[in-house]
Amino acid sequence: MIGFGYDIHRLAEGETLILGGIEIPSSFGTVAHSDGDVLIHALCDALLGAAGLGDIGEHFPDTDPRYRGISSIKLLRQVVGLLQGEGYTIVNIDCTLVLERPKILPYKAAMRSCIAEACGIALQRVSIKATTSEKLGFVGAGEGVEAYAICQLTYDGTP
Ligand code: MG
Repeated sequence: MIGFGYDIHRLAEGETLILGGIEIPSSFGTVAHSDGDVLIHALCDALLGAAGLGDIGEHFPDTDPRYRGISSIKLLRQVVGLLQGEGYTIVNIDCTLVLERPKILPYKAAMRSCIAEACGIALQRVSIKATTSEKLGFVGAGEGVEAYAICQLTYDGTP
């Protein structure tokens, strides 16, 4: 099974920037009910999508005070647990972050380790890519950050 996920968050001065489970030094960050980890949100949606299990908003509604400021890695762990319980195994994950700044390259290895650990899979099964939008549109203006994720699952039979 293949799954796809997308997410977007606004960026604002004075907020914390957490991407792929890693806090990135920055004067601005994502505006969100949770920790605003757009990459992990896209990944959760890809995983849920591959298993036909809905989306992150259904499982962790932003109206629920339990999820205020919550680490998105915790949500990812819950999604992975749900998939395992249903009999799914993650084969691989491929993600793309789109933001103008800061440069993501110095943090990619840490993000990759964090995601691999949370998903219980080998490092080489997790790919993280980053690009800018060439100063075009709202991402190019530094007003937001986008993330895309795709994953493959296998189904091991009756859970
Ligand atoms: Mg989100």
